[in-house]
Amino acid sequence: MSCEPFEILMMKHMDGDITDIEYKKLKKHIDECSTCKNEFDTFENICYELKEPLIDPPLAFETEVMKKLENLNLYNKKLKEKRILAAYFISSMLFSILAICIAVIYKEHVYNFMIYINIPLGFASNIYGLLERIAVFFDIASTFIFYLNSIFVDMLYLLIGLVSIIFMSKIYESAQVAKVRKNSKKTV
Ligand SMILES: [Zn+2]
Repeated sequence: MSCEPFEILMMKHMDGDITDIEYKKLKKHIDECSTCKNEFDTFENICYELKEPLIDPPLAFETEVMKKLENLNLYNKKLKEKRILAAYFISSMLFSILAICIAVIYKEHVYNFMIYINIPLGFASNIYGLLERIAVFFDIASTFIFYLNSIFVDMLYLLIGLVSIIFMSKIYESAQVAKVRKNSKKTV
């Protein structure tokens, strides 16, 4: 007897739309055919394991999952808000720094423009003085960075020198050890 129609019945059974008559036929065949019985048992086991937790999830479990999901959503929302805030803060900082840099570089133009639009002379000179002081600060900062950089380069050379000395001494040492070994072999 061919097993093919019973395989189809098994599929129908798994899908849950098998009729009573079909099920009886299938059962009868399974009792007679070990191959189909094995297949049927395997399917049943898989279905049992897949369906069991899904058929009736405990209410507490469900609410807990929902709560966790809600918390996760809330957390993500907060994280997003924080990120947007941080991005806004950083970009506004960068923009102000850039604006100050441009103002410092073109301080004469800024001053002339302020005079042109009739800003009180005292205030304009104050702004100009401030920009000049910032320019001095930039100068000092760049000198300092340059100085740090040169120190760093010196340190790097020193480090390279030390490492090469250590390396050479190791080579020398191993050469000496080899020599001693050779000599001791000769004497033995
Ligand atoms: Zn069979």
